Amino acid sequence: MRARISCIVLSLLLVVAFGCKPAEKPAEKPAEVKHEIHWGYQGEGAPANWGSLKQEFALCSSGMSQSPIDIAKTYKTKLDTIGAAYKDTPLRIVNNGHAVQVNCEPGSFVTIDEQKYQLLQFHFHAPSEHTVKGAFYDMEMHLVHKNDKGDLAVVGVFMKKGAANKIIQVLWDNLPQEVDKENVVSGISVNASGLLPKDTRYYHYYGSLTTPPCSEGVNWSVVKTPIEVSEAQIEQFRKLMGFDNNRPVLPVNKRFVLESQ
Ligand SMILES: [Zn+2]
Repeated sequence: MRARISCIVLSLLLVVAFGCKPAEKPAEKPAEVKHEIHWGYQGEGAPANWGSLKQEFALCSSGMSQSPIDIAKTYKTKLDTIGAAYKDTPLRIVNNGHAVQVNCEPGSFVTIDEQKYQLLQFHFHAPSEHTVKGAFYDMEMHLVHKNDKGDLAVVGVFMKKGAANKIIQVLWDNLPQEVDKENVVSGISVNASGLLPKDTRYYHYYGSLTTPPCSEGVNWSVVKTPIEVSEAQIEQFRKLMGFDNNRPVLPVNKRFVLESQ
């Protein structure tokens, strides 16, 4: 009993001691204020450094379920088809400095794992971010969706050199040269379902955003069959970006990649 009382007294003393300790001074800024390094794909802001650019980006280096990945070992199984119910959306296109992105009006949905996700935007990377057994495709499109709970589902579509793609041409013809300036094109609507291949069997795994803050818990469906775009269309995109905008692949770690049969 006495021991217990001493223990309580000691605890109280400790609380008092620490409670009275003068609050630590907030960390002062270094005398020489360094300019903030923005994330990107080259130089100091390159993918290898994303995790240390900002506290909010820590997962980019510490996360164990990151994207993209090299799709190599898969488990073939019966997966639901991707139920895309996309509607025409007035063309709103922007070069945000990291990718070319089409912003979508509410009302387009995809059903994955019996959950309904709304299409927010789709954007493009060159070369592809995911690789299949180590091989890159020329480009990759990401259709980014969110459900009512705020969970993200991204559908990835590979793009390879071949016939010209009419919808891509409409997008590229309206590419804004100026970064961060959204081009709202009156009179032109696009429908993202025209950018899906007929066969939408896919690879499925849980990963992350492929750009900072690299948030995890993203439901990924990477469609196995690529769509075609012409060499000129690939070049036009690459020329506009001026650099490869793909994050290198990250380790699969303890994840399983499922594959539609
Ligand atoms: Zn992306």
